[in-house]
Amino acid sequence: MSEFEMNQDDYKELIDAMRKDKAKQKVFWSPPGDKEGTYKIRFLPPVKKNNEKVFYFHHKVHWINGKGYECLNQTLIDKDGNLHEAEECPICNAVSKLYATAEKGSDDYKLAGMLKAKDRYIYRIIIRGNPDETKIEYFESGKKLFELLYHILTESDFGMIIDLKNGRDFSLVKVGTGAQSNYDTSTPSANVSMIFNDKESIAKLLKNLEEAPKFNSFVEFKDAQTLKQTLKKFLTHSDEDEEEDELIANFENSEKVQQPVEKKVEKVAATVTSAKAQKVEKNKPQVIDTSDFVKDDEEEQEPDEIDKLLDMFNS
Ligand SMILES: [Zn+2]
Repeated sequence: MSEFEMNQDDYKELIDAMRKDKAKQKVFWSPPGDKEGTYKIRFLPPVKKNNEKVFYFHHKVHWINGKGYECLNQTLIDKDGNLHEAEECPICNAVSKLYATAEKGSDDYKLAGMLKAKDRYIYRIIIRGNPDETKIEYFESGKKLFELLYHILTESDFGMIIDLKNGRDFSLVKVGTGAQSNYDTSTPSANVSMIFNDKESIAKLLKNLEEAPKFNSFVEFKDAQTLKQTLKKFLTHSDEDEEEDELIANFENSEKVQQPVEKKVEKVAATVTSAKAQKVEKNKPQVIDTSDFVKDDEEEQEPDEIDKLLDMFNS
């Protein structure tokens, strides 16, 4: 047997590695950053095969320079299937120190607010009007949209909007642009509907769902040392001020921060804005043609077979 020959196990390993790499490239779908508008989507149910109990994935992220870093103080399984146990987080520590000394509304206080861990929620969705509506996209939101969904599912008459058979589409309404944008007026469709009316689309969707990357394929932890250095670099960025050296020394020595950071905050805000702008450009948000949103209801229905398919997924 030549050393280049590959056996079953080798192939399996190769495929697994390729899957992981593919999942890594996956970027989140989001409405264009510079436009307001209504986007018709549908939230998808949890995938039982993955032991998912809920249809979303919650994690806490620190934003530094427009880049997200998993907070170390949370227990999650990472993209490689390894359990990360909650541990002390250097960024959370820095934030606590700032809050301990900063007056409400001060620049230190704002800096702390900017750096503190944010709740993020990832969902699987389909987008109405996509050339292939069965294509599964991943969408990430903050706490407010999650709370709206929570309210809809637990306290409203809309019911289980994520159900494939008796759920509802969802109008994601984006008001405002950039950092000021919100989804507060988003709402489920008035009518209950099956996700697709034809058997082929449903079969394709179910296949896509089963093959879709697990939520934890987006989770990658940096070690505490790396986070410390990232924070340090962020705070010293393009300035060799002695004041800042002292500020960093304070972060590192776990002493209370006594130096004012007023000047820094402006710079920080500018960096964040420009980093965001760059990010938006890089990810080239897709433009959605709303004219396609009108669903074709004339499709032939095959209720029995469709029911069978859906029941298979739900069992
Ligand atoms: Zn943290």
